[in-house]
Order: sequence, then C-alpha cells, then structure tokens
Amino acid sequence: MPLDTSANSPSPSPKHRLQAPPLGKTRAGVALLLLLFIGGWWYSSQVRPPEAIALNGATMGTTYSVKFRELPENMTATQVKAALDKMLVEINRQMSTFDPQSELSRFNSNPSTDWVPVSPELLFVVREAQRISEMTGGAFDITVGPLVNLWGFGPTFTNDAIPSQQAIAEAQERVGYRHLQIREEPPALKKDRANMYVDLSAIAKGYAVDRLADYLESLGMDDYMVEIGGELRVKGLNAQGVPWRIAIEKPTPGQRSVERILHLKHEGIATSGDYRNFFERDGQRYSHEIDPKTGQPIRHELASVTVIDPSTTTADALATGLIVMGPTRGFELAERQGLAVLFITIHDGAFEEKGTTAFAPYRVD
Ligand code: ADP
Ligand code: MG
Repeated sequence: MPLDTSANSPSPSPKHRLQAPPLGKTRAGVALLLLLFIGGWWYSSQVRPPEAIALNGATMGTTYSVKFRELPENMTATQVKAALDKMLVEINRQMSTFDPQSELSRFNSNPSTDWVPVSPELLFVVREAQRISEMTGGAFDITVGPLVNLWGFGPTFTNDAIPSQQAIAEAQERVGYRHLQIREEPPALKKDRANMYVDLSAIAKGYAVDRLADYLESLGMDDYMVEIGGELRVKGLNAQGVPWRIAIEKPTPGQRSVERILHLKHEGIATSGDYRNFFERDGQRYSHEIDPKTGQPIRHELASVTVIDPSTTTADALATGLIVMGPTRGFELAERQGLAVLFITIHDGAFEEKGTTAFAPYRVD
C-alpha cells in the first residue's frame, strides 16, 4: 500500500472496507497491515514547522490521515477536522453497504426495476465505476456484491465456509455491470434485475480521498496529503518543505518493509493486493478480490497492483480491476492505456516488480 514516508505515523491504517467487519470474525489479513513511515525516522530529529497540521480519525472501517502545512486564515484545525468528518459521514450515508440505511443499501434492497432517483454523488461514482468496467472487460464490476457477500467479505457474518458451486452459479446470475443503467438528468439508476446488489467498496475510499482533497484545495491549500485506508492523494510539499515521498509496502502478510519509494507532486495513488484482507482455509488463501467471470477469489502470482492517477477514484477502481485481470492481461491493458502502474508478482517467495512506461517517472532510484 502507498504510505506517506515523511512524518511520524499516528496509527496504522488497515486497508479495508467501507465499515468495520462484523465483530467476532477473524481474518488473518485484517490485522496485519500497516503503514510504514520510515521517513519519519530520519526526519524526526528535525524540528517540525509549527504550522504543520496532522488530523486523524476513523472512517469506512479503517482510518484516515490528513496533513497540511498551513491553516486557512479564518479556521482552526478543529474546524477543518469537523468539516472533513462531516463529509466522510455523508459519503458513508450515500455509499456504504455496511450501513443498511445508506442510499446505496436502500437502492440495493429496492426490488424495483424502474429508474430510482439517486444523489449526483452516487451517480458520479457509479458512472466512473462503469467506465472502468468497460475498460477492464468486466474485471472491475460493482455488481459483484452477491459474490462478495457469498465469500464472506460483505457486511453479513459468514463462517469462512467455501461456497458450493451451485451457490456461486446462483450469485453469478445476479452479477453483470451491463444490467445496471445510469440516467444523468435527473440522476437515477436502474437495475435490469431486481436482485442485483451494488458494492462500491473498491472505489469509495478513493472517491472520499478526492472529495477531502478537493475541499482542502477549495480552502486554498497547495500542500497536503489525504489518506484513507492506504489510498491517498498528495499535492505540493510535506511539512519539511520537500515533495511528498510515498512508500510502496512489500506485499508480505505480517511484515512491514518498503518495496519502493515514489515521488509524487499532485496525484492520487491506490494499491490493491491480496496480502491483507483474506481468509485461509486448509492452507489456501482466499482473497477479497473476486473475479466476476469465475465467481471465485483471484488466484495468481500477482501480489499487488499500484496505480497513480490524477483521480484517486480512478486509481482505486483501476487497481482492483487490474489485479483481477492478472499480471499478463492487466499489464498489457495498463500499457495500452498509458496508465502509471506498478505490478508486484511473487515467484518462489521473491518479489518481482514490473512498472509501465508511464510509471517510470515516479520512481526514486
Ligand atoms: P481495499 O478495499 O483493500 O482497498 P479494493 O479497492 O481492491 O481493496 O477493494 C476490494 C473490495 O471490493 C472487496 O472487499 C469487495 O467488496 C469489492 N470487490 C471485490 N472484487 C471486486 C471486483 N472484481 N470489482 C469491484 N469490486 C470488487
Ligand atoms: Mg480499489
């Protein structure tokens, strides 16, 4: 996962889902993950400028962290934090499947196959999701919800049992992004099949990062970092007055070490990997990334995919879509589209990196 290397970390931020998993459920990956703030060690001896502000909190079943250099003239840090928290609560109320009363949950449980009016924000995220579905040939698909829930990665409690072929086939019947339609004016969504279930967990964190970052920019801030559960966006300079350096974590469960450091100026960055959120049964690891075509959690040697894009919303969705596509087809697509992507595969316990042409300028070698 991408990490801010430039300051002392408050708390680890498990990359996770929109809300906390049900209590009592243990997943090997969930607790493992962490932010690495190696940069903090060598910067910690320096005195931080008094205007450097760090805000932290909980959202979407994970944590967020926001840093910036200067407060706007007429606002306190508490006021900025209150505004950010309010935005996050609103986004959850619109897009979380872990809140049964959210706008998305109400859409999901609505049996109607007619147009259902939705907020422009929900429409925006679904529109971007559908664009990434087209681009990835359906590897990214927000209608994958019935499969996510079946495999125990949704809001309802399951006992990590492996679903039967029949249950998988039945859930697959309900999946298919082409059966979810979008209307712009007035904003509305329409399911072709009454029992469809939309899951925005693979894109909503990136979207929330963009919303918070846009808000900071609207306050006139040119230097900030916004991070939610490992997806992040930066602009300008960090507290030390140098460009942000973001570390990509080695995709090893239970270990924290840096795979690579990147220089970012004004971009979003998101990572998908199967090394944090998964369950194990009979020695087999089951990832929370589901291939809609097979109905199964992905299984290949791709350990993580990191995408850099001006939009964190896009980066988040693409990271999920490309990891589902796998190392060969995913890499080809990323090159063809001119995307900045780092693929990390694992062969016999050793990591191998492969970056696209557009990724090269972000490397610090
Ligand atoms: P993280 O949530 O760890 O940041 P992702 O962004 O890859 O990781 O999102 C994974 C979540 O997205 C899963 O928990 C599930 O809810 C959902 N999901 C799983 N497979 C897909 C898919 N093929 N397309 C879209 N969403 C998916
Ligand atoms: Mg994602």
